[in-house]
Order: sequence, then structure tokens, then C-alpha cells
Amino acid sequence: MLTFSRGLETPGIAMRSNLTPADAGLKTEPAEAPVQPVRRLRIMMIENDRADAALALREVRRAGFAFQADIVQTQKELNRRLDLDSYDVILSDYRLEGWTGIDALAQVRQRGIDIPFIMVTGSLGEESAVECMRQGASDYIVKEHLSRLPLALARAVEENSVRKARVRAEAVLRLTLEALQAAANGIVIADRSGTIVWVNAACGALTGYSPDELIGHNPRIFKSGRHDESFYRELWTTITNGGVWRGEVVNRRKNGSLYTEEMTITSVRDAHGGITNFIAVKQDITERKQTEDQIREWNARLEQRVAERTAELARANLKLESEVVERKMAEEALDRLQQQSVLILNAAADGIFRVDLDGKCQFVNHAAAHMLGYEPGDLIGQHLHTLIRHRLPDGLPCSWDECGIHQALALGVSRKSEGHIVQRKDGTSFIVDESITPVSEKDQVAGAVIMFRDVSKQKAMEKMKDEFVSVVSHELRTPLTAIRAALGLLAADDTAGRPARARRLLEIAINNAKRLVHLVNDILDDARLDSAHVSLARRVCTAAELIQQAVDLMRPMAESANVRLKAEAGPVELTVDPDAILQTLTNLLSNAIKFSPRGSIVCVEARQEEENGVFRVIDQGPGIPPEKQQTIFRRFQPVDASDSRRRGGTGLGLSICRRIVRHHGGGIWVESRPGRGSTFVFTVPLGQPGTEPPDRRRRKDDDVSPFY
Ligand code: ADP
Repeated sequence: MLTFSRGLETPGIAMRSNLTPADAGLKTEPAEAPVQPVRRLRIMMIENDRADAALALREVRRAGFAFQADIVQTQKELNRRLDLDSYDVILSDYRLEGWTGIDALAQVRQRGIDIPFIMVTGSLGEESAVECMRQGASDYIVKEHLSRLPLALARAVEENSVRKARVRAEAVLRLTLEALQAAANGIVIADRSGTIVWVNAACGALTGYSPDELIGHNPRIFKSGRHDESFYRELWTTITNGGVWRGEVVNRRKNGSLYTEEMTITSVRDAHGGITNFIAVKQDITERKQTEDQIREWNARLEQRVAERTAELARANLKLESEVVERKMAEEALDRLQQQSVLILNAAADGIFRVDLDGKCQFVNHAAAHMLGYEPGDLIGQHLHTLIRHRLPDGLPCSWDECGIHQALALGVSRKSEGHIVQRKDGTSFIVDESITPVSEKDQVAGAVIMFRDVSKQKAMEKMKDEFVSVVSHELRTPLTAIRAALGLLAADDTAGRPARARRLLEIAINNAKRLVHLVNDILDDARLDSAHVSLARRVCTAAELIQQAVDLMRPMAESANVRLKAEAGPVELTVDPDAILQTLTNLLSNAIKFSPRGSIVCVEARQEEENGVFRVIDQGPGIPPEKQQTIFRRFQPVDASDSRRRGGTGLGLSICRRIVRHHGGGIWVESRPGRGSTFVFTVPLGQPGTEPPDRRRRKDDDVSPFY
């Protein structure tokens, strides 16, 4: 602060030693006072009269001012000097040549230069003096009282200095205020009682209150209720003790919404150290808090996700481990299964091969290797068809194209062949029945499994049986037929006049011969039908003609049993072996007549039902108990053995019927209730093509069995 009131100690402007302050009538500081650095006062003297100028400056010098003065006489010079230099004070005569001190003053002020301007004039009327002051002169001195000049000069310089300092201070204050106003942080200034005295614009934006609504109020207006009293007490204690309080506060806006601010409260002290004000700087950190909360939440979520993922991974790991264990167990189970399968396959009596798409052996069981006379290892990778020198049943070589293995692989369908001939390692042969099944992998044929059975012995047995049948048929049946015929002739000869006993014996012999012939025929038929290779001599015929023939054949028997035969046939056309079907019908009719009470009716009928020809033989006999209705179709299974013998059965009739029907692809059964008669039913599929076997014609012409 500049003070000229007590002396001329303008900072940087010192008195020269050759001019004492006493000369100027001014008080001086004690001699031992520190001498300030000398700065010359820069004086502009506007004066046309040099003598007057010297006089004035002498007064100044006498007052102890060190100075450097420039004398200016014209306006032009004034401007030039103002351009070149800066001055601490301008002394100007009022009356100048061609212009006035007022002009000079105006010129200086026009240029916006704020330096003390003292008018020094010979005489100045009151009006002129007022005008000078009005124009901004700092003072005016009448030349007659030049001794006042130093004091006026000192005062003007000091006042100017003070004013400039104030202007500077005001500018700083303005800037500060503007800065505070423009600050992004809310700023609240309160007095020491806590009453708000100033707020900036940001505070308004932050709280929603206008400055008018805040100034004069207490900051408790912002209270949100989120903090307890101890919180505010601690804050107040801190700042009233002169400390700085820093913290986060949840406040309430004017509109009721809450926000979080970071607040710093500083106390302001006066020159005596007493607290005069508090300045609170507030920053809205709601967003930051939200962001922090969000980040915390994200972190928590992330951690949760990580934990979940870790748990998932752990679970996946466990699953994987258990899957590995399971897979291992499955593999072991598969291994065991494979071993078991191999054991089973090796234990099988039939030969089993598996071949790849090229027909090369991939697997062979022990039975197959044994049958062919190889070690299993010798057969792996071998082309089976070539190795076994496959031949057809007639002994001719079987080409690869004809081979069932090739067909199964090429067409993807199962094949069966019977009686084919294969060769062992040692060159001997045997006959096989085989079934070949293609094996698919991913819907593609990948190979085939061949199962075969050595049927050489079976074939030999069949051959033996055929030979036996042939022998029996010729060696037993022929003499029996002759015996029966002879006995018949004997019985027919009435002229012999035999005694009654002889006639009875003859009758017994004839009956037994008949039974024997019947039994032999049945045994032969049964044996022949037992073979899987029965060939049927199929041809087209109608059910009506078959029924009619059967009825015609059985009529004598029916008449002697006093049973009426009734035939009913629909328009059914069949492709069957007529002799075989006729034999079936006569067997059933024979049984029906045998078991019918005298005077009853046996009905035989045929009709088409769906794709079958259906035959029924219906009697009014004793019926068959349910538990016997299945067994009677087996050999020698009468319902009642003594009754059957009495009625003269062989025990093979129904068994033969079943075989015939089955060879035709049909079925046979009985529908019966004891005491309510029996209905024997058999079906024959319609329209089956057939071939005529050569030996069947021979049997048809046989005189012993007209029924095949
Ligand atoms: P059998 O030569 O003894 O008649 P079958 O095989 O023809 O032999 O018949 C087997 C058994 O079925 C007969 O013994 C008889 O007990 C019974 N049976 C067959 N047909 C009839 C029928 N129509 N009524 C009652 N029982 C019957």
C-alpha cells in the first residue's frame, strides 16, 4: 500500500540527498531509516516559458524529489513523448501558445493514459479551475504558490498509485469472482454462523436452487436425512476449529432428488485469526458414484461370471472326467462284450465268417476254421469264395456272380443257399446250408456275415431215410397189398362154404391187413413230409372239385357209419397240390365220420376269406377238450387212447394234415367244445405258383394209397 500521508516514501521513488524534505516543508523519516533504492520520478512539464518550468522544477527538486523532467511545448511533441515514454506525473501550464493545458489534459485522457495531471498556471479563474478538475486534472497550482507543488505532486502520485492498485485489485477480484462463477464446482460461502452469503452458478445447477433462494439461508436446506447428527457435528467441529473438512455427502436437491457430492469446506480467517467465513466447494459425484457402483456391480457380476464359469468348468471337468471314466468303462464293457461275443461265436456249432466288401475274411469262428481244416489265423484276409472252391449243389463251380456272398454285398439283401459244396484245406469237400446277411455301417453295406452248417451227415441221413422209405414202400407195402387183396378174394368167395369161425377169422385178417396198409401208408407219408424239401405238385383247381372228390371218396365209409355227408363250396380257385389237399380233406372227413354219432351230419365247406381259401369239416361228434386242441396235431396224440384204438386210428392223420397245410403256407386248427361237435379248419393262401415234382406222379398212381 502506498502512503504519502506521512512522507514521500513512494516505493522506488526516493528523495535526493541534495534536496532535503525539510526544504519542502515535509516530515522526514529518521536519518537511520533504510534508504530505499532510488528511482527517478519521470515528470513531463508542458510549458512554453522555460523560466517558469525551471522555477517549478526547482520547487520539486527542493522538496527532495529525484526526477527526470521533459519539457514539452507543442501538442505534437506531447504525443510523441507519450508514445516514447511513460511518466509518473504531468505538470502543465494552463495557457500555452496556441493551445491550453485543458487541451493537453484532454489529449492525455483521450489516449487513456491514467497519470496525475497537475495544472500549474499564472492565474486561474474559478471556472477554469472547475473545468480543469472536471476534465480529470489531479490538482492545480497557482504559480504564485509554487511551494505547494511538491505536496500536490506527492499527493497526486500517491492517489494515482492507490487508484491504480485499487483498479488492479478490483480487476483481480472481478477475475476471481468470474472464475468462481465459472467454476464447474459448486461454491458456497457462508459466514461464521453458517448463513450462506454467496453461491456460484454451478451451485445452482447442482442443487436446483437459485442464488436468491440460498443466500441468507443455512446449508441444512440441502440435508437429505441420509446422515445422522454425529456426521454434521463432526463436520461443524472440524471447520469451526479452523480445520478443513473433506468428505462425501448425500444431499437433496430442490426437486427432492438425492445426489452425492464431494465437499471440501475451508474456513477463512480475518487479520486477527478469527474465523469470518466458510467456503464449501462441492462436486457432484453422483455420476461418478453411479459409475463406481456400476463398476462395482460389473466387477461383482464379472466375479460372479468368473465364479460361475469356474464352477461350470469344474463341472465340465468333472463331467469330462466322469465321461472319460464312463467311456473307459464302456470301452471295457465293449471289450468284454466283444470277448464274450467272440467266445459265443467260437462256442457256436455253426461256422461263422465276417467278410469285408471285397469278400475277404475279417473274422472266423473256431467251428468254421475247424470245419474247413484251417487255423483261424490262416483264413483272415483270404478271399473266402476262392479259398473254399465254392461249388453249386450239382457239383459245378459256383462263379463269384452266383455266390450268395457277392449278391449280399452287391445288393445288400440276405441270401440263403442249401446244399452248396465247399472244399477243406486237405481237398475233401462237404455240403453246407448257409445264410448270408449283409452288415451295414452308416447306411452303407460294409460287409457280410456268413453262417453255415455242415449238412453232409443230415444229407446222408435223408438219403438213408429216402432209401428206407423206398424199401418199405416196395418191400412191405407191396406184399401187404397183395395179402389184403388175397384175403379180400377169399372172403368174396361164397362158394367155399366155410364155417362161421373161419369167416370171422378171415374178416379179422382183412381188417388188420387194411389197418396195416393204412398205417404203413401214414408212416411213409409222415416220413416223406418230414423232409424240408417236399415239393408240391401245384396246379390250379377249384375248392368245389376238391371237396366233391373227397366226399365221393368218403361216401362208402359214411354210409356204413350211417352218417350223412354234406358239401358246400364257394367259387374258390386255388393253386395247390390237389392230391395233398385231397388227402387232408379225406383225413379230416374220416376222423369226422369216425367220431360222429350214427344218423348225424358231417359238413364240408370251402370259401374264400381275404387272401385264403378256407376249408371247414364240421361234425356233431363228442368234441375235443380245449387242452387237447393243440396236442392232437402231433404224432400219436389221441384224446383218448383206447377210444382211438377202438375207432381204428393210426395216430398220424392230423400230423400229416398239418404238414401238408404248412407246406402250402397255410394253417390248421380245431374249433370245438366237448359235446358240441368239432370244426376242423385249414387255410391255403390263394394263387401260389408251384412246380410239378417228378416223383409225385408216381405216388398218385399208387394203387395202395389213393390219397397220396
Ligand atoms: P387217429 O388216427 O387216432 O384218428 P388223428 O391224428 O387223425 O389220429 O387224430 C388224433 C386224435 O384226435 C384222435 O385220436 C382223436 O382223439 C382226435 N380227433 C380227431 N378228429 C376228431 C373228431 N372229428 N372228433 C373228435 N376227436 C377227434
